Amino acid sequence: MSTVAIIGNGIAGASVARRLALAKPDAFSRISLHEMGRGPGGRAATRKTRSLPELRINHGAPYADISTGKGLDLLASLGDATETYSAPRCTIDGKTGAVEPVEQDTAKAMITGRDGEMANIAGDLLRDGNDQLLSPIVTHYSSMVRGLSRGPRPGDPWRLSDKNGDEIDRADWLIAAGSGIAHPRWSATFGGEPPLVAAASEREDASLNDALARVARQTAAPVLTVLLYCTDDLANEWQSLAFRDGTLTDHTVLSKISIQPCGQAGCAVVLHSTVDYAVGNAGVHGSSSSAARVGDASSDTTREAAIIDEMLAALDDIPGLPAAGKSRYAFGPLLHRWGNAFPQGEALPQALSVCPESQVAFCGDYVATDARMGSCESALLSGVEVADTIIDPIEARSG
Ligand SMILES: Cc1cc2nc3c(=O)[nH]c(=O)nc-3n(C[C@H](O)[C@H](O)[C@H](O)COP(=O)(O)OP(=O)(O)OC[C@H]3O[C@@H](n4cnc5c(N)ncnc54)[C@H](O)[C@@H]3O)c2cc1C
Repeated sequence: MSTVAIIGNGIAGASVARRLALAKPDAFSRISLHEMGRGPGGRAATRKTRSLPELRINHGAPYADISTGKGLDLLASLGDATETYSAPRCTIDGKTGAVEPVEQDTAKAMITGRDGEMANIAGDLLRDGNDQLLSPIVTHYSSMVRGLSRGPRPGDPWRLSDKNGDEIDRADWLIAAGSGIAHPRWSATFGGEPPLVAAASEREDASLNDALARVARQTAAPVLTVLLYCTDDLANEWQSLAFRDGTLTDHTVLSKISIQPCGQAGCAVVLHSTVDYAVGNAGVHGSSSSAARVGDASSDTTREAAIIDEMLAALDDIPGLPAAGKSRYAFGPLLHRWGNAFPQGEALPQALSVCPESQVAFCGDYVATDARMGSCESALLSGVEVADTIIDPIEARSG
């Protein structure tokens, strides 16, 4: 029986783990997921805090659209792992505040996770109808993989290590469910070579080197989000607006306002910056990010407060929206930087997403699928497609 280590428990990591566990339960003795965040979700995560139990904030993707035939077929097979997102959407004129409803495209499905929590998509995909992890999946959260190596002999396993160089896992197959460990931006954030690039330099695997070269050419469009949570009168003010998801037009700082009711009396609001604004404010992660918390990534904290002020001032300037006075909020404002909100460039071709010689595979929204690059749908589909591709070589080797 084989073992698989998946780095990343965003939607793609969950999708590949689920497919492998359900397709050939007897082929694997362990499918482990390592996730540097506190829980599942990745860029489709949900922020919570113990001090305010009803608070839950989808601070990355607020929902996902499923648009392709393959995506819609897959969705039908995912059972309760997703829910329909039916909240009203609109565009907001950034200068006048005029609101235009966005009609639902009936050819698409709009989805969120259980109880409206996006993180539940990447969590529930790993579970069965009794809320148990599908066998043989095991999860490790706040577990950042900092080093990778593989011995020269064909039977040698992949070894995964943490920031102290201590081994944290071994596996026959390694799946990069996110481009982080393979992309040069690792060096700017954490220092040193990206772990998979360092491991590949010890091997002579042309397809792995080709795949890594393609990933390295991809760039990233960042987004800054400001998280707010309020109760009572202010929550009512936000919820009395005609929309829950507003896409700004003609605005240099803000691109989206997401209004997310929480429990009986609460309401979260997430402001998304434009990509240009986030590019102009590089070097700030937000103190709550996994990169800062687990990876010791450095961040300019003094700049954080100024960015929050600028984004709130931009909100205040849009007519017709509740005043953004900081003291009115029970939680926040809190800044979160998504350095790679949307990967850009040429998606990694499917043919290079599995490198059988090194037993490495790539999945995530940076890999080519029928769906648009940089979407939850592409993450879901790429997980399934990688699982279907590696099952045959795994069965062949285990004989
Ligand atoms: C602000 C924002 C708005 C968005 N809006 C939409 C939208 O409206 N619709 C839509 O479809 N998509 C949207 N997206 C994009 C969508 O969120 C992503 O396409 C999707 O979530 C990608 O999933 P993934 O599994 O491929 O990658 P990720 O979610 O990035 O998962 C990769 C995971 O790997 C983990 N990881 C990385 N390196 C390591 C390591 N060394 N060790 C351990 N763990 C590691 C990361 O913590 C992460 O959880 C949005 C994204 C953002 C940020």
